[in-house]
Amino acid sequence: MSRDISMCHPELQEKAKKLVQECKKQGLIVKIGECFRSVAEQNELYAQGRTKPGNVVTKAKGSSFSSMHQWGVAFDVIRNDGKGAYNDSDGWFGKVGKVGKKLGLEWGGDWTSPVDKPHFQLKNWGSTAVKLKKIYGNVENFKKTWEVEDMTEEQVKKIATKVANDMVYKYSDKVYNKIEEVPEWGKDTVKKLINKGVFKGNEKGLDLSYTLLRLIVINDRAGVYD
Ligand SMILES: [Zn+2]
Repeated sequence: MSRDISMCHPELQEKAKKLVQECKKQGLIVKIGECFRSVAEQNELYAQGRTKPGNVVTKAKGSSFSSMHQWGVAFDVIRNDGKGAYNDSDGWFGKVGKVGKKLGLEWGGDWTSPVDKPHFQLKNWGSTAVKLKKIYGNVENFKKTWEVEDMTEEQVKKIATKVANDMVYKYSDKVYNKIEEVPEWGKDTVKKLINKGVFKGNEKGLDLSYTLLRLIVINDRAGVYD
């Protein structure tokens, strides 16, 4: 099974780590279970309850790229205190869900069809994979935006153009208002633009969305602000 969180989006890795830590403080022993899922693994899961024994657990075929697990932005948790991996008789998953939501994650326990209490995902691209599919087409393109520091100038320019073009496609987005809220990979760029007077924000603060942050960091690495 695909239980390697290091294959997931860096922000998800950070939040998974925090979830485990925060839950531990409350006596909730959480283990990260399934996270990144390949096409073959998703197909395997799709077959369950259809052409293979078991209950139906997903609506998503591998080729459809419609599971958030296939985009590296979702993980499932397992109860790891010896009382049963999915034992929810004492509302354990609800307590973990509450902690995850505080960390800004979307929790599958809030969904209605299907309710998926062990499931958490990043909110940045909406609840479903529709926007990710529309913007990036496939997970390989999406992955290229994860670690901008390892890219060549040609690669960043290509992505900068693509992301800029996609900016017309509006979607709800995480917003940073203070410099301390900005992730490490973006701080230098934001500081640079503030110092240059290019970036002023408004009365609420920076009012900087995750998408815009990603774009300006990519531009910065491409030397646009030098
Ligand atoms: Zn899940």
